Amino acid sequence: MRIRVEGLRKHYVSDGRTVAALDGVDLDIPANSIFTLLGPSGCGKTTLLRCIVGLETPDEGEIAIGEERVFSSRRGIAVPPEKRGLGMVFQSYAIWPHMTVFDNVAYPLRVRRASKARIAQKVAEALRFVQLEGVERRSATRLSGGQQQRVALARALVAEPKVILFDEPLSNLDAKLREETRKALERFLGELGITAVYVTHDRVEALALSNSIAVMRAGSIVETGSPQQIYFAARTRFVADFIGRANLVAATVRAEEGDQLVVDSALGRLRCAQRAPLRIGEATLCIRPEFMHLRPGDGEPVPNLVRGRIESLAFVGEFYEAQMRVGDTLLLARTEPEVDLHVGDPVHFVIDPAHCLLLWQ
Ligand code: ADP
Ligand code: MG
Repeated sequence: MRIRVEGLRKHYVSDGRTVAALDGVDLDIPANSIFTLLGPSGCGKTTLLRCIVGLETPDEGEIAIGEERVFSSRRGIAVPPEKRGLGMVFQSYAIWPHMTVFDNVAYPLRVRRASKARIAQKVAEALRFVQLEGVERRSATRLSGGQQQRVALARALVAEPKVILFDEPLSNLDAKLREETRKALERFLGELGITAVYVTHDRVEALALSNSIAVMRAGSIVETGSPQQIYFAARTRFVADFIGRANLVAATVRAEEGDQLVVDSALGRLRCAQRAPLRIGEATLCIRPEFMHLRPGDGEPVPNLVRGRIESLAFVGEFYEAQMRVGDTLLLARTEPEVDLHVGDPVHFVIDPAHCLLLWQ
C-alpha cells in the first residue's frame, strides 16, 4: 500500500510554548518497501507516525493510504485508527504481562471475534514466522527483550495489516540483541513484502533495514533517498553529518575541469567529482573517515595528496581511530591495525575525487 502525506502540520503547546512538531511534511512512501524516518530525538518522528496511524490529529494536511484518503483538514476527513488497517510495533514492547505468548498474539483476532480454529491457525503461523514456536504457553514476561519484541511483531502481523509501522522497536534492547533482532527484522520484512514505515534515530539501523530513508530535522523532511544516496551523495551538511562519521571542511569552489571541480580548502587544493551543475563559491567538503587511507611519511606529490601528522590514535578493535592534524584542521580517519603509525608521525593520504563530497547547505 502506498502512503502519501501532504503539507502535514501539527503543533503542541506545552508550558505556554508552541512547538511545531510537524512543520509541513510531504512524503510519498512506495508500496511494498521499507521506508525509514530517521532523525534526532524530538524532530517529530513519533508525531508523524501517530498522525499516519490516526492516534494524533494533524492541524493541517492530507494523508492517503492506498486509494483512500484517511485524513484531510480541508475536506474534514479523519478515519479512526481501527479503520485504517495499520499495524504498529512500539518502542516499549506493549505486550500484556499477565497473558501467555499465545494470548498476546491472539488478542487482535479475539477482538474481531474470529473462530477458535482460525485463531489457533493464525497464531501458529505468526509465531512460526517470528521463530517463536514452542513458547506459546509461556508467560510473555518470561521471555528475553528480543523475544518480547518478536511477540509484539507477531501480534501486529496476525491482524494482517496493509502497512506496519515501527516506532524505535529496538531501542530498548542491548547492543548485541539489537543487532540480532535487527537482522531478524530485515529478514521478516523482506519476506513479508508489505509496506513498512520504520522510525529510528539510529543511522546503522536505518542504513541496514531500509529501501528508502527520509531524514527529518525539526519537523521537516530534509532529504529522501536510498541508503546509498543518503550516505554517499547527501546534499546537506546536516544529513551528511547525521548519517555517518564525516569530516566537514570549509571549501571554495574555483572552477570546473572535465567532470571534476577544483576546490580550495584547509586541506589544500583538491579535485572533487562533480555531481551537480557548477556553482562557484563557498561550500562544505565532506570526507568520510573510511576513505582516508593513511600512510606513513610525506608521500609522492600527486593530485589530491593531503599531508599532516597523527594527533591521536585510539584502538577500537577492528581498526584504529586516528586524528590527523592538517594545519588547524583535525580529521578523523580509520586506519587498519597493520599500518604502523604513531602519534606525532608525519602521514599522508590520497583522496579519490569520487569520495570528496561537496555540500552546499
Ligand atoms: P521524536 O519521536 O522524533 O523524538 P516527537 O514526535 O516525539 O519526536 O516530538 C516532536 C516534538 O513535539 C518535540 O519537541 C516534543 O517535545 C513535542 N511533543 C511531542 N508530543 C507532545 C505532547 N503530547 N505535548 C507537547 N509536546 C509534545
Ligand atoms: Mg519518538
